[in-house]
Amino acid sequence: MTTEEVLEIFKKTGGILKGHFLLTSGRHSDTYMQCAKLFIDTSASEKLCRELALKLKGTDIDIVVSPAIGGILMGYEMARQLNKPNIFAERENDVMTLRRGFSVEKGAKVLVVEDVVTTGGSVKDVIAMLKEKGAEVVAVASIVDRSAGKVDFGVKYVNLISMDIVSYEADKCPFCKTMGAPIKPGSRKI
Ligand code: ZN
Repeated sequence: MTTEEVLEIFKKTGGILKGHFLLTSGRHSDTYMQCAKLFIDTSASEKLCRELALKLKGTDIDIVVSPAIGGILMGYEMARQLNKPNIFAERENDVMTLRRGFSVEKGAKVLVVEDVVTTGGSVKDVIAMLKEKGAEVVAVASIVDRSAGKVDFGVKYVNLISMDIVSYEADKCPFCKTMGAPIKPGSRKI
C-alpha cells in the first residue's frame, strides 16, 4: 500500500480535510485530520490495519494494548488481524491504568496501538505503565505519525503515513489573506 493509497482512504472517509481551520491551540492550518472518521468505514479501516499487521510479521506478540479513546477501535482491529487478545488502557485521575478487570501477565510481549501519534505522550504513558507491570513492549503501531519520524519509543515503531501538518500563528497565517475566516472543526481536542 503506497502513501497515496492511504491518503486516498483518508480523503474518501473524511479523515483528512483541506480548507482553512482554527485549531484548539489557536493556530491556523490548511489541513485537518480526524482519524476517528476512518473507522466509520469498517472495510477501509480493516484494510489499513491489515497493512500494519503485515509490517509486524515476525514480531512475537502476545497481546495488543491501546490508549483510550483514539486507540480502542484500532487496537481491536489490529488484534483481530493478528489473532491476539486486545485490551485498552485509560486515564484515572490523569494516570494511565488498566481498569475493567483488564490485566497483562508478567513477561507478556505487548504491541501498543494508537491511531495518531503526535508527541507520543499517551503511548509513552502506556509503555511506562506496562513496564511497571513487568510486561515487555515489543512494538508500537499507528496509522499516522504526525511527528514526521521525530518520536522515539525505544522499540520498533510501524505506521502508514508519516507527516508533519504545518500550522501558523493566527497573525502570520497565509490562508487568512486568501480564504477568509478559519472554521473550527467538530472536535474540541485537535
Ligand atoms: Zn488563517
